[in-house]
Amino acid sequence: MGDFWNLLRRFVPPYKKYLVLNIFFNILAAILTLFSFAIVIPILEMLFQVKSEHYELMAVGSASLKDVTVNNFYYWVQEAIASWGPSNTLAVLAAALVVMTGLKTGATFLSSYYMVPIRSGVVRDIRNVMYDKLLRLPIGFFTGESKGDVMARMSSDVTEIETSIMASLDMLFKNPVMILVCLATMIALSWQLTLFVLVLLPIAGMAMGKIGKRLKRVSLEGQQQWGRIMANIEETLGGLRIVKAFNAEEKMEHRFHRDTQRFFRISNRVARRQALAHPMSEFLGTLTIAIVLWFGGSLILGGESTIDAPEFIYYMIIFYNIINPAKELSKAVYAIQKGMASMTRIDRILSATNPIADPEGREPLSPEPLRGRIEYRNVSFGYDPDRKVVEGVDLTIRPGETVALVGQSGSGKSTLADLLPRFYDVSEGSITIDGIDIRDMRVRDLRALMGNVNQEAILFNDTIFNNIAFGVEGATREAVEEAARIANAHDFILDTEEGYNTVIGDRGCRLSGGQRQRLSIARAILKNPPVLILDEATSALDSESEKLVQEALERLMASRTTLVIAHRLSTIRNASQICVLSEGRIVERGTHDELLALGGHYARLVEMQSVKG
Ligand code: ADP
Ligand code: MG
Repeated sequence: MGDFWNLLRRFVPPYKKYLVLNIFFNILAAILTLFSFAIVIPILEMLFQVKSEHYELMAVGSASLKDVTVNNFYYWVQEAIASWGPSNTLAVLAAALVVMTGLKTGATFLSSYYMVPIRSGVVRDIRNVMYDKLLRLPIGFFTGESKGDVMARMSSDVTEIETSIMASLDMLFKNPVMILVCLATMIALSWQLTLFVLVLLPIAGMAMGKIGKRLKRVSLEGQQQWGRIMANIEETLGGLRIVKAFNAEEKMEHRFHRDTQRFFRISNRVARRQALAHPMSEFLGTLTIAIVLWFGGSLILGGESTIDAPEFIYYMIIFYNIINPAKELSKAVYAIQKGMASMTRIDRILSATNPIADPEGREPLSPEPLRGRIEYRNVSFGYDPDRKVVEGVDLTIRPGETVALVGQSGSGKSTLADLLPRFYDVSEGSITIDGIDIRDMRVRDLRALMGNVNQEAILFNDTIFNNIAFGVEGATREAVEEAARIANAHDFILDTEEGYNTVIGDRGCRLSGGQRQRLSIARAILKNPPVLILDEATSALDSESEKLVQEALERLMASRTTLVIAHRLSTIRNASQICVLSEGRIVERGTHDELLALGGHYARLVEMQSVKG
């Protein structure tokens, strides 16, 4: 339960006001319950004519408050019977019971009313902090997590917290109040009997606790399995084309059904265990009532009791009012156990540390509007600490210069480029811009210097205008069109149905590859960064659109410091420096002509391509 209080401490404080109101109305409801049932005593006494004493009005302060209240109440009842007759008095008392109950249920409603914003507010806040965290976590975090599972945590795990934990909060605040108030009344009525009850209740409680423990574990398994199902769906939607092309529908079906089947089995276990809460507590509750009924009843029958029969009935009614909240409380505890499993999963994201952060404890240095040079010094990096992907790389890019990285697939080109905007941090060595280590800059400032165009154009399901204006606040229509023109995109944009207002579909699926790429180039042009990183920007294109894109890229590269990774060597012929990577090391460097003359790796690569092409 420690985790649970922790959760409340983290997310409930903004809703203190509502919490106070909720608790206030809970207490009010509990007190009204007591009084409404207290009216029952004289009703019973009149029906069964147990009391025949005569009551006199007592002054307040002449005896204990309880005695005065009880006495005067009886006095009024007696007077009422004298003037209206017993039947009418009974009617009045019954009406009073109805009114009191009305007030009580009203108070109960208000307590729930104020619980609602806490419940939905906490859920909203958890989703928001998760999303904010997701945006800030380094790219490396997501290689260890599947997208579908992350989505499951944001959707079903948060919902689980809402339905099990937040829904239980109401009971958690209401029922202890009710139980305490009722218990206090019971002690006032007969402490001997209550002492007996207090011995019985914890025994029943312990039996209940046993089952709750396992529930959390099974529930965690269930949520993990759900995450797998979501991952499966996500993957299927993304790969539908290939599934169909390879006639793999049955195979996918099989895989999916196996996952849902496993989820089915775990859900059954969770639900059955949870379903046990109600019957268990009902049975144990009735058992305790029966024992108390027998014990208290025999005391009265034997004439040893301090209370009489109607008081005993009132006592039992109050006691019954404990059993119900106690039952709900045990159900709430079960639900909380179940929900905490989801919290564990959510916390794996929330508590993940982000090593790629702004410098701490020192002033971040900001680069001048980039006069200077980019320098990789003895840089090594591995996704997995044991296996270096980039090793001992030294590389200098002077401002305005274009440096090209070439090499076989898997040689570490993209990795080397990803180190510059700090998508990953170097494991050894350093990268500096104008002599400032990039880890000493604010991450925002660093990334503001750079524009990326990758092999796979990443676009959003939004209008063309918004996709181009993505990285720039308040871009004007003219600026966007200008960027589109430079990117060779303006013409095809005008040909679309709604021009710049056309929505391009998920990841731009309504456009061709070349069109998507030209939009992403326009986006980079509009951002107008001093440094450009082009990672195989043209390699996914056919030669027709490649020409258009290449043209756009050349305009973009002019006057910018560029790190370009090219698959087709013809596109980097004019680079000031070409570095050939092999197994994470730079094995050759120089201009196109120098490297050809050298007759090494580069010459071989060129030869291979000219044979192919
Ligand atoms: P290139 O761009 O030259 O084709 P990459 O830089 O993408 O090569 O990859 C270099 C090596 O790093 C490859 O062997 C690849 O298996 C590995 N690698 C790439 N990305 C990851 C990743 N996210 N996690 C683990 N290993 C990776
Ligand atoms: Mg690559």
